[in-house]
Amino acid sequence: MGLSRIVEIDTTGGPGFGFEHFKQYDFLRDKEIVLTFDDGPWPQNTPAVLKALADECLKATFFEIGQHAMWHPEITKQVIEAGMTVGTHTWSHKDLARNPYATVLEQAEQEIEMGNSAVNMAAAGAPVAPFFRFPDLQHAPQLLTYLGERNIAIFSTDIDSRDFKMHKPEQVIKSVMSQLEKRGKGILLMHDFHKNTAEALPELLHQLKGSGYTVVHMVPRQPLTTIPKYDEMVTQRGKLSSNNTRPETNVVRAIGAHVLEPWSFEPPSSAGASKSSSPGSGGAGG
Ligand SMILES: [Zn+2]
Repeated sequence: MGLSRIVEIDTTGGPGFGFEHFKQYDFLRDKEIVLTFDDGPWPQNTPAVLKALADECLKATFFEIGQHAMWHPEITKQVIEAGMTVGTHTWSHKDLARNPYATVLEQAEQEIEMGNSAVNMAAAGAPVAPFFRFPDLQHAPQLLTYLGERNIAIFSTDIDSRDFKMHKPEQVIKSVMSQLEKRGKGILLMHDFHKNTAEALPELLHQLKGSGYTVVHMVPRQPLTTIPKYDEMVTQRGKLSSNNTRPETNVVRAIGAHVLEPWSFEPPSSAGASKSSSPGSGGAGG
């Protein structure tokens, strides 16, 4: 398939993109799409997305969650090394239009900035883009001002695949293709966090190519700068688990056959996301 164009985004003043919320900047031509993936990095699913993109020589933008990047920094590095653009998506995927974040600006800023610092730390010196997407696409007006002052661009979407609501890869493909038929172009929102999307992607890219769509890649003019105070906060979070370096099998041993009710909680290191408690399971995408 291959890339048709690369566009450089000057994030000065925090411009907003994506017609669902921001209608000023319309940089795509007819039949052009931008691929974006949220909520990673995540084992198996993110590498599967990277492979599908590499097979078609395509590039995309990934909006990563800070905590996920701390759990899987090697995948963040893999995404950047593959030539993708990596932006951020808060520290822990909180809805910033709700309280306490909607009223306590400082808490909302911390959620945004710890996400920035964590992803930047995971990137280990490679540039992260000053590109941000609000969780669940919930934009709080005062935060638009804040991001403007930080020169961080805000990305909504043109086509929300709503892939997090779907149970089969075919549904993801159908959702994207049918919405694109109506709009003809746009920034696509998907989730590399979700197995269905990772599985759908090879066939989806095949169908996009067959229908004459071309992919545009977004890169930033300047890299993200983080704020030392929040870098420190993320570093401190990491230190809390620094005693936990021995493998779990050495630390925790089953000593009886007493069977309890199975846990519904899924630890962060296990693969195969898309449980109902996962990020992005709220109303809108993102
Ligand atoms: Zn999200």
